[in-house]
This record gives sequence, C-alpha cells and structure tokens, in this order.
Amino acid sequence: MDKKDLEREFHMTGGDGKTSYARNSSLQKNASDMANHITLETLQQLYKETRPKSLGIADLGCSSGPNTLSTIKDFINTVQVAHHREIPNQPLPEFSIFLNDLPGNDFNSIFKSLPYFHIELKRDNNNGDTDSPSVFIAAYPGSFYGRLFPEKTIHFVYASYSLHWLSKVPPALYDEQGKSINKGCVSICSMSSEAVSKAYYSQFKEDFSIFLRCRSKEMVAAGRMVLIILGREGPDHVDRGNSFFWELLSRSIADLVAQGETQEENLDSYDMHFYAPSADEIEGEVNKEGSFELESLEMLEVEKDKENVNDTSYGKAVAKTVRAVQESMLVQYFGEKILDKLFDTYGRMVDEELAKEDIRPITFVLVLRKKL
Ligand code: SAH
Repeated sequence: MDKKDLEREFHMTGGDGKTSYARNSSLQKNASDMANHITLETLQQLYKETRPKSLGIADLGCSSGPNTLSTIKDFINTVQVAHHREIPNQPLPEFSIFLNDLPGNDFNSIFKSLPYFHIELKRDNNNGDTDSPSVFIAAYPGSFYGRLFPEKTIHFVYASYSLHWLSKVPPALYDEQGKSINKGCVSICSMSSEAVSKAYYSQFKEDFSIFLRCRSKEMVAAGRMVLIILGREGPDHVDRGNSFFWELLSRSIADLVAQGETQEENLDSYDMHFYAPSADEIEGEVNKEGSFELESLEMLEVEKDKENVNDTSYGKAVAKTVRAVQESMLVQYFGEKILDKLFDTYGRMVDEELAKEDIRPITFVLVLRKKL
C-alpha cells in the first residue's frame, strides 16, 4: 500500500461502538496519564518562558474519543494555573488548539462533543464568574510527515502514541516483483531477515527527520514538543516488548491460515507501517536534524493490572486495543469476517504467553525544545 492510500485508509475505528477506538483506548490513556506530570510541567515551563498573548497548541495524531478533548482541557487548566502564578494581573492568553490526524479520522465525533467541552470549561471556571479562557479549536487533517500549520504559529506540540506509525510501509520491503520479503510476519519478527529490520529503520530515520524539520518551521523559538512513543529497550529489534505483540498477531493470523480461514498469501503480503525505535536511534535523529534540543527522554512501563478493569484478562484488553488500531488495515487484506475469531485467538495467545514469561512493552516520553 503506498503512502497516499495509507493516508486515506488508515484510521482508528471511529464512532463509539463496541470496537471503536473511543471505547478501546484506555491503554493509551493510562500511559499518557503516567506521562502527564512531564507533559504539564513542560507546558508550564514553556508558558513561563514565553508568555504569549495567544498560545498555539497542537495535538498530532489526536484520534477521536475521550482522550482527545480531556488532554486539551488538562493543557488549558495547566496554563491557567501557571498564568495566575506568574502574571495574575494580566488577561489570560487566548488558546488556539490545532487538532491533527489523518483525513480518515472521525473528526466529526470530536466536533459534536465540543459544546460539552465548552460547558465543562466554563464550569471549571466557576460558571464564568472568574475569567473564562477563550479557546479556539480547529482541525488540520493531514499527515504530520509534512507541513501542517503556518510558520511560527505553534508553541506546544503534543503527540501521544502516534509517531511509531511510519509514513508508509518501507518500500525496501518489496522485491522486484513487488512481493514482500517479510513473509509470515506483519512486522519485524523473529523470522525476519536483517534486510527487513534495515528497511524499517531507514524508513523511521527518513520519517522522523522530516517530522522534526516540518515542526521546526511551524514552531516558535523555545517552543516545546512532548512526544510519547512506543519503543524498545536495546538495539535488538526483536524482544519481548512491543515487537512481541506483533509477533503474536502474525501467529494468530497463521493459525487462521492453518484452519483454512484465510490464505497464506494474505499473511505474506501484509506488513504494518510501524516501528519502535530505541533511545539511541531517537537521539541520533534529533541531533542529526539539529533544530531541537532533547531536554529529556524517559522510559515508562504501564502497569498491566490497570488495563483489565473492564475485561476478564490482560490478553482481552490488548486484543481490543490492537483491533481498534489495526482494523482499518486488516479488513483490506483479510476481510471483515475473520476479525472476531482472529482477535479471540490473539487475546488467548497473549494470556498464554504472559503466563509463561512477562511481556514488557515500553514507552518513551521525550521533551524537545526548539532552538533559538
Ligand atoms: N493521541 C491519541 C491517539 C493515539 S492512536 C491517544 O493518545 O489516545 C494514533 C493516532 O495517530 C491515530 O489516530 C492515527 O490515525 C494517527 N496517525 C498515525 N499516523 C499519522 C500521520 N502520519 N499523521 C497524522 N496522524 C497520524
């Protein structure tokens, strides 16, 4: 699938139904909550340093659902606190909120919840007795691997769980006949050759440096970015972390192939546009591109028992999350029909593996500062 198709087709499952991202994104929410102190402290620090009259805040890969606007509300409250501490006698800054995701994202459901958002905001400010902030929210559909916003308009960029998605499946993954060289796997897995991890890594480098270059044009000096991204602990591409979840997805699909539910060619040709970088790889790209200074990079691990409050097992919780994230791509290769069975198998496999040995998906939280 080429870049244009991917930009059109890839999206989290919309709406608020049983399999929607809105109802299956608590994993991401727990992790971004864990990173909240970093995110909010960074925002306060930025406000203290720059004190703009109008503050531009962008959420890249905002998706749709409760995470989107609750994040924005936290941002506004945080700036208000910083403002009252720093310059209480001056008027509050205005907020320009730039929501970005790919065009297939369910922006409508965000827009529909805006009236409630504004009511809540007012309630937070004593029903308007105290100064209520002016908040202007707009959507900027498009890929963040390209320019999104006018020059020097953004102070704060936030991207939670979106940057491990590449701009496309690496072209080097296909041979002259256009066939995938990563047969039997949906991502880098234990069966993959060296060429496969190389292809993914070079795609990451290309994409991440374009990302940094575009943001550096759009952001003001001393602007900050907080990027929350899935990653890996060491140099090995295959570990018992994030890559293992995709290994199990490959195995679940292979299981359906064995049962005659789908063809082997479908599994062979399906490759994800996902890459979990290491801390060194991230740092290397930031330094090479040169527009940003890496203020901090922290590694988080989300506690597993928090995930399955509404599920009978961790495996089931992971299966729902992965389905909400991957469904739009999987249907094109395997059809709608096999999805229930696929994710039943997948959830079971995750639980079985977890009973044998821990699986440790890790998350990085990076803070970047736009150089002067
Ligand atoms: N930030 C949300 C959503 C994470 S899901 C949260 O933390 O819950 C990842 C989101 O990134 C998806 O909505 C996906 O559509 C979006 N995304 C992936 N690649 C993108 C790209 N190139 N440009 C813009 N958005 C992208």
